Amino acid sequence: MNSKEVMDTFDKYVVNTGARFPVVYDHAEGAKVWDKDGKEYIEMCAGYGANSLGYADPDWLDAVISQLKKFQHTSNLYYHEIGGIVAEKLVKKSGMKKVFFANSGGEANEAAYKIARKYGNTIADVHKNAILYMQTSFHGRTISETASTGSYPGMDAKFGPLTPGFFPVKINDIEDLKKQVAEHNPCAIIMELVQGEGGVIAMDQEFVDEAVRLCKDNDILFIDDEVQAGIGRTGTFFTYEQYGFKPDIVSFAKGIGGGLPIGGVLTNEKTCDVLSAGEHGSTFGMNPAACAGANVVLDKMDDAFLKDVREKADYLRGELLKIDEVKSLSGLGMMIGVDFKTRDYAQVVQELCENGVLAITTHGRLRLLPPLTITKDEIDQALKIFHKVLDK
Ligand SMILES: *Cc1c(COP(=O)(O)O)cnc(C)c1O
Repeated sequence: MNSKEVMDTFDKYVVNTGARFPVVYDHAEGAKVWDKDGKEYIEMCAGYGANSLGYADPDWLDAVISQLKKFQHTSNLYYHEIGGIVAEKLVKKSGMKKVFFANSGGEANEAAYKIARKYGNTIADVHKNAILYMQTSFHGRTISETASTGSYPGMDAKFGPLTPGFFPVKINDIEDLKKQVAEHNPCAIIMELVQGEGGVIAMDQEFVDEAVRLCKDNDILFIDDEVQAGIGRTGTFFTYEQYGFKPDIVSFAKGIGGGLPIGGVLTNEKTCDVLSAGEHGSTFGMNPAACAGANVVLDKMDDAFLKDVREKADYLRGELLKIDEVKSLSGLGMMIGVDFKTRDYAQVVQELCENGVLAITTHGRLRLLPPLTITKDEIDQALKIFHKVLDK
């Protein structure tokens, strides 16, 4: 099939839930992608950040292929070594207590909600099950996540009734946070420390400090959704390290598998034994091939790797700010939101694509989530194209 035939096949047979760019992947390496017509692109969105090691990382490929040759799936009825290794590494790296594995960010947050609800209903002194979320949040696409996602308004009318018991808080508004806690007596507060879909917005330190304090004082669980911001993306392994606290539950997915579907929640002393056998699960969760990929991601993400991510992020941010049309940047590390002085961000993303840079939008701005392994040469190549598109 040529590019046009592939796109026509999608249009005809695939339910249309994605506004796709007219790019048909043929093969990819590092931060570069070639389409079916041989055109080259620099990947600056890494499949929403999931391709954390870029494409065709040799160690990652070896590990995944070797595991596939041994066995590809077991279900949660049996043990496998690679799952144990990845669980131990994740727990030790994060300083959390135990991990539950699923296949995506949506399943990760669904697990977090079930742990929080059971904790509130059966363990907290005062029976409680409300969950507070941030007004411009994004937590996934299930009915409960839609109920706790503020960045796509109007969903209730289309998909309602949504799961009850979720209440919004104005972001970075301490007074509103206190008010909602007093009003709803929640069992949990969920937030992204750096909102992704909501606009690449980093939470204020004082706001997070206050949320942490309220959680401690009132036996409320702090659920930190690091599905997008975690696993090295913001320059530390998890973003909560930069905010100086430990959440009760951390959800993760995107970057951990290096492009294979794996996600889950890390739990602490308070939350690690809330769920019992039979109450939750996932047929494909902790898939051995995905774990083999995650194991390589975890091994590579040492202090030197993260320092390199921070340095490249600083460099990329510095160079972007030198572009006349760039007004300001948001986010943290390699999670970058870009505002323009006069240009329309959606139009810029289209033009970048035409000129060979794959970038994405978020609410109100352009968003960059390059592979964490992107080289300085690849960054420079992308910057040249940014100048070409924006300096005219
Ligand atoms: C992408 C994302 C999710 C949902 O993850 P899926 O793997 O698409 O289900 C949840 N939370 C945040 C912050 C995300 O960015």
